[in-house]
Amino acid sequence: MKPFLNEPTRDFSKEIHRNWIRETVLKTRNGFPVFVPAVVNGKKISDLKTDVHSNPSRSSEIVSEYSLSDEHVLAEAVRCSKDGLDVWKDFGAERRIEILLKAGDLLNEHRNELCALMLLETGKTVPEAEADIVEAIDFCRYYASEYERIFPGRSVRLPGEENRYFYKPKGIVGVIAPWNFPAAILTGMCAAPLVCGNAVLLKPAEQSSATAYRIYELFLRAGVPEGIFHLLPGKGETIGAALVKHPSVSVINFTGSREVGLSILRECAEVNAETKIIKRALCEMGGKNPIIVDSDADLDQAVEGAIHSAFGFQGQKCSALSRVIVLDSCYDTFKSRFTEAAASLRMGPPEELSSKVGPVIDAEARTRLEDVRRRHKDRIIFETELSDELKRIGNYVSPTIFEEKNEDSELLQREFFGPFVTLLRVPSFEQAIRSANNSDYALTAGLYSRNPHHIEEAKSKIEAGNFYVNRSITGAIVERQPFGGYKLSGVGAKAGGPDYLKSFLEAVTVTENTMRRGFSEDLIR
Ligand code: NAD
Repeated sequence: MKPFLNEPTRDFSKEIHRNWIRETVLKTRNGFPVFVPAVVNGKKISDLKTDVHSNPSRSSEIVSEYSLSDEHVLAEAVRCSKDGLDVWKDFGAERRIEILLKAGDLLNEHRNELCALMLLETGKTVPEAEADIVEAIDFCRYYASEYERIFPGRSVRLPGEENRYFYKPKGIVGVIAPWNFPAAILTGMCAAPLVCGNAVLLKPAEQSSATAYRIYELFLRAGVPEGIFHLLPGKGETIGAALVKHPSVSVINFTGSREVGLSILRECAEVNAETKIIKRALCEMGGKNPIIVDSDADLDQAVEGAIHSAFGFQGQKCSALSRVIVLDSCYDTFKSRFTEAAASLRMGPPEELSSKVGPVIDAEARTRLEDVRRRHKDRIIFETELSDELKRIGNYVSPTIFEEKNEDSELLQREFFGPFVTLLRVPSFEQAIRSANNSDYALTAGLYSRNPHHIEEAKSKIEAGNFYVNRSITGAIVERQPFGGYKLSGVGAKAGGPDYLKSFLEAVTVTENTMRRGFSEDLIR
């Protein structure tokens, strides 16, 4: 197999790379609403109750009508998976790797349609949607190459003793995916357990079921058997919770909020009386990610990186910047340049390339975020003026910059998952590090500095799973920057890194005494 290489993103300043957008968006729109059935063993179950999700930038447009999977659907998916596991195992590692590579190629072939669908379903701008799909392609190719590396296991031979160390699939894996990276995160969460030989029951987020359905179909087209990959759309509290509880599911692969992640971890700690398994749970949760701006930082670089990290996809990334900790000596200059730069961000419908900030995911998120703004009105130092038209048509929320002194304030402690960022002034670099670490979370963090001692000090002291120096803190790239946090940001191996696949495998050691006196008669015959 060829060595893994990251798929490049396109440069949308070139006409040739953007001439598909208008037509593809229109074509996608004409197919709305996308009906998303539950799919078990290749059969679409279309008689379930349904709910709908609307385009975040145009609330009157219904994007998807997704089915509400119930316990019967889950029971059938588990039954088929049990039957299918041996067949999938018999495919062998090489064939499973080939299928995953094919899935990556199909995602690439359908890149434009998937971008257009994500744009309309989640409100991603075109470059954000492109980055999402490219990461999904990378996950397929990277996990294929990783599986090729680890599946042979290893042997240790001594005179009279043979030891084999190898991996077996864990069995049935429940994938509970978020909406904010509807292609990348969902694809990675499914591709890894599949290539290892597991069955996957996929519960996509309600807000991105249509994208999930398209990706799921491409995996089946690539050759993943219908018997071991099932789609269970629906509500988190019902089908998601039932999946977590099911006695035959060995692993829960979850990405989402802290509240749900912690409840899943509690549930998985219970030993199941029927199957006697302790479920493994991978829970990737939130962040309250800081950037420190040191007194000698290059402010051009710092302002640009902070704007990109705070407002890309409207701040709805787990890696997004939400606290800027600025040294006293450059605070006022940084503040005025940062607010000026925020004022230049154009808000508007994501299908227009000039829009840098689009809508938030749904009306509930908008109400929640507006409440935060109301509660902290006196702390706002900048907000984008929203036109009446945008307010009327979609879930637009003004990018907002707050200023806060009290480190216990929710502005500096709670994850909002929206286009909000808070500035904190600190007197010294030591205090900046202490403030950065003053959080329940440890997901991403950044430092802008030209002081080599400070850079080294921060590398060793900052609590973050992904720490970036003199660059933005979002947009981790598969293999180059394996992604994931600790503290209350999550448990489990880093996605897109060398340890991830082992989460879906059981390591086994077989030791054989080879000082035999002869073989049994059966073998001789
Ligand atoms: P969420 O927890 O509400 O939903 C995530 C998924 O869990 C959805 O599929 C949902 O249907 C399901 N779910 C909801 N309740 C459930 C329950 N009781 N049992 C089982 N499943 C349930 O999260 P969200 O609001 O959609 O996503 C935003 C959160 O995700 C943020 O906190 C963000 O930081 C986090 N996130 C983290 C990462 C990471 O890699 N660390 C990546 C993306 C998003």
